[in-house]
Amino acid sequence: MINAQQIYKSFGNLSVLKGVNLTVEKSEVVVIIGSSGSGKSTLLRCINHLEKIDSGSIAIENELMVKNNEANQAIYQPEQEIKRICSKMGMVFQHFNLFPHMTVLQNIIEAPMTVKKMKREEILPLARELLQKVGLSNKEDSYPSQLSGGQKQRVAIARALAMQPDIMLFDEPTSALDPELTGEVLKTMQNLAEDKITMVVVTHEMGFARAVADKVVFMDGGVVIEQGKPEEVLVNPKHPRTCAFLSRFI
Ligand code: ADP
Ligand code: MG
Repeated sequence: MINAQQIYKSFGNLSVLKGVNLTVEKSEVVVIIGSSGSGKSTLLRCINHLEKIDSGSIAIENELMVKNNEANQAIYQPEQEIKRICSKMGMVFQHFNLFPHMTVLQNIIEAPMTVKKMKREEILPLARELLQKVGLSNKEDSYPSQLSGGQKQRVAIARALAMQPDIMLFDEPTSALDPELTGEVLKTMQNLAEDKITMVVVTHEMGFARAVADKVVFMDGGVVIEQGKPEEVLVNPKHPRTCAFLSRFI
């Protein structure tokens, strides 16, 4: 579903991704862990074309979005192609990013109506089904300001799902939440995993990683240090840097 190879990305002279490889198979849940500043968000943002890479290749569902020329510079497909390819992915951010002036239901149907040109009546059944899935059927007429952080994040998940993506990317979806609200969001994500939705999740929630991930990827300093099954990476890490990182969670 995702094949990113030898991704390099700098901001000015700050080199942030230094040859990252990431593959994600259909229905797989891949959890990316690593210290703050290790390049996790940048990697997700490059995959979703919110940032442009300097060098490397990215293919989504076997469709090439960008690849190197002979000079090792990343050459992107035309913008229209990239848009189409990236529409296969939905993303959920740490800070929800809901539209504050729209109700929960309006938030969910907005993108399908404007981007996919669907009619309100066409999208309503799916929107309501998704609200039920995230446990917020009774909140469709509420505004974001009337919701808890956990509820807002569940709306954000429903909103991303309303575009019917094949892949969901999550960037620290529970990091901005009070501890007592993280569980409801993690549970919602676990349900998606059980529905066999392909997911890439950046998180510090090691319990979630252990229980839900098919693969855990540990990043440090812009490279992938170690990856494998959760039992391997989280329980029997091979690399000293993985051990040092994990020791903070005990
Ligand atoms: P993580 O998500 O693992 O905490 P990030 O990918 O957000 O790490 O950031 C990696 C590094 O890149 C950090 O040093 C950060 O300051 C830097 N960085 C991220 N985005 C930008 C940007 N738009 N401009 C400049 N530097 C950035
Ligand atoms: Mg980040």
